[in-house]
This record gives sequence, structure tokens and C-alpha cells, in this order.
Amino acid sequence: VGVRSCVGPVVRRPANFRLASTLVFLEANKDGKVAQSSLSALSAAEQLGNPIKALLAGSNSTEAAKQLKLTVGASLVDQIIVANNEVYDNYLPEAVTPLCLELLKEKEFSHFVVASSAVGKNLLPRVGALLDYQPICDVTKIVDPTTFVRPIYAGNALATVQCTQEKKLVSVRASSFPACSAGSFDAPTLEAPQVEIAELGVAWESENLVKSARPDLGSAAKVVSGGRGLKNKETFDKLITPLADSLSAAIGATRAAVDSGFCENSLQIGQTGKVIAPDLYIGVGVSGAIQHLAGMKDSKVIVAINNDQEAPIFQVADFGLVGDLNEIVPELTKKLTK
Ligand code: FAD
Repeated sequence: VGVRSCVGPVVRRPANFRLASTLVFLEANKDGKVAQSSLSALSAAEQLGNPIKALLAGSNSTEAAKQLKLTVGASLVDQIIVANNEVYDNYLPEAVTPLCLELLKEKEFSHFVVASSAVGKNLLPRVGALLDYQPICDVTKIVDPTTFVRPIYAGNALATVQCTQEKKLVSVRASSFPACSAGSFDAPTLEAPQVEIAELGVAWESENLVKSARPDLGSAAKVVSGGRGLKNKETFDKLITPLADSLSAAIGATRAAVDSGFCENSLQIGQTGKVIAPDLYIGVGVSGAIQHLAGMKDSKVIVAINNDQEAPIFQVADFGLVGDLNEIVPELTKKLTK
């Protein structure tokens, strides 16, 4: 498939990228606000060093293009391609893939970059399969335009992948790339080509979003995460919510806490949940199972509260408080609120 995976030093090949450019697929909400994860995808694309073309699709895309121009630093994006068609709303991969394929037919595109979000994870494999290219998923570091680092084995090892394919299809972990810098620019906007879309075979029914005034877990600077040690939903709400409030933090949880019904499953952090890298992570009654660590071990400062001093979370913690969470958390919250 043209992808060589190795752990260790890589042989870098010089390549002629002067004519290359990168197509970045961006997601935006209904009001046209570009997703944080897409802004991270743009900053990852910037590291590739090629001219960047941003693709916005959906009936919000004209507004999203306007907002993008006000959000992103000057000269980052050379051109915005707008596919203003409601068929692309909600980014059903069955609809968006033909558009991406049509654009990627252009020889100039050496790279296609998406955020490793639910949408990106849905889109990239389909694009890869139809182009017969191997996507490189969950990239956490760009070494050079052909060499990428990505976690494997639930984050226990990092693979350095060198891609020799003509086109590199890459999804990037938003937590590994800061959202691109603020500023404004005035790149030309271009209408996307009309693409014939056959019968989709699927239809968007509805979405059920949990509304919260809290920062988004995926991009919050501070996260308080609760585990099974909290024992029940009442204690989770009674201890975790005030502690998170005192820090203006997002709330997260382990899978055990989610499975036990302490909180929404959208709050799950880990291998099968969200991958986060906040400035501060506080784990309360969290043992630090490998699958949970896969989602938070890149946090800048890790604080663990656990009554078992042998709990694995202490191996990654910068600060550990050994004791009963029922005593420590209220005291900590009181002090922080002061
Ligand atoms: P436990 O491991 O039960 O830990 C509870 C901790 O609370 C203990 O360390 C205990 O000492 C402490 N404690 C108890 N009482 C107190 C007290 N009074 N005061 C202080 N501390 C106390 N897990 C995830 O989190 N995210 C994932 O994405 C995920 N994906 C998985 C995927 C697969 C394929 C599998 C097999 C598992 C996955 N898991 C995931 C589950 C994971 O293996 C662990 O079971 C889970 O993370 C444990 O959650 P926990 O730390 O809340 O619970």
C-alpha cells in the first residue's frame, strides 16, 4: 500500500514539493463557526509547508468562509473552496466523499488533511478506499511532508510512518496541534465543482446534543475527571461538579464511571472515548488503566486523588494526593473557591 511503518529512525527522502499543495477539510457548526479541531488540522497542514486550500461544505459554508477569514492568521490559507449545498449538511461521508474525490483528482494536491474527529474518522477511510490509498490516521507529529508519527497499541508505542504514496491522506489529533493562530486574511473564495451524487442510501435523521455551559471537553484547558471510586452518580455530581466549577473546568470520566451511569457517555476519556491534552487534568477516584491513560496522558499537569498509593495513575501524575476523595475533594474545592 506504499506505507512503511517502523519504530525508530526513519530514512528521509528528499521530495519535490514545490508544486504540491494541501487540501484541508474543515468542519463548521450551523452558524458557520469553524470547529476547534479543524483549526488544529489547519495548523498541522501549515507544518507541511505547502500552500493550503481549505474546503468548506454545507449550506453554512459561505458564512463559515467569512468567519474563517476573520479567525485565521494572515496568509495561512491560499484559497477557500466553498461547496454551498445542503446535501453536505451534517457531513454524511456518502455525500462528502464524491466532492473530496473530485477535488483530489487535481495533481496539485499532495496532501489531504482532516481532523481526527467523528466526521474525519468517518470520511478519511472512505476517501482512502476509493482512491486506493492508505490513510495515515491519528497523527500526533509531522516530521516532514512524508513522515508522520502516530500512536499505536492504545498509545503505548509511537510509530513513525513514512508514506511514499503520491497523495498523503492524513487525519490529525486535535490535542497534538494548537488551533491555528488568530488574525485575519483575505484569501479568494472559489465555488467547488458541482458533483453528481448518486442515491446516498442513508439519511440524516436527527442529533441529540447535550447542551452545557461548560468548556468543551475536547478543547478545555482544565479537566476534572471522575472514576469508579466515586461509587455513585450522587457523589459524582456532589463532588466533581463543584470542583470543576471552582476551576471553570470541563468534566470528564472513565469508562467505568460512564458504564455505571454516573454521567453521560460523551464525557468518556480514553482509548474508546475522547483524547485530551489540557493544561490541567485532575483524576478523582481514577485508577489509571492503560485505556484511560491513552486519552489523557499528554495533559501538561496531571493531579491524581486516590486512596490506593499503588494506583497506576500515580506513575503519570505530577501531583498525587493519597487519601479518601470524600474528604480531599470538598477541602480542595473550598480552598479553590476562596
Ligand atoms: P477502577 O479501575 O475501578 O478504579 C477506581 C479507583 O478509585 C481505584 O484506583 C481506587 O483505589 C479508587 N478509589 C476507590 N474509592 C476511593 C476513595 N474513597 N477515595 C479515593 N480513591 C478511591 N476506560 C476508560 O476510562 N476509557 C476508555 O476509553 C476505555 N476503553 C476501554 C477499551 C477496552 C477495549 C477495554 C477492555 C477497556 C476500556 N476501558 C476504558 C476500561 C479500563 O480498562 C478500566 O476498566 C477503567 O478505566 C477503570 O475506570 P476507573 O479508574 O474509574 O475504575
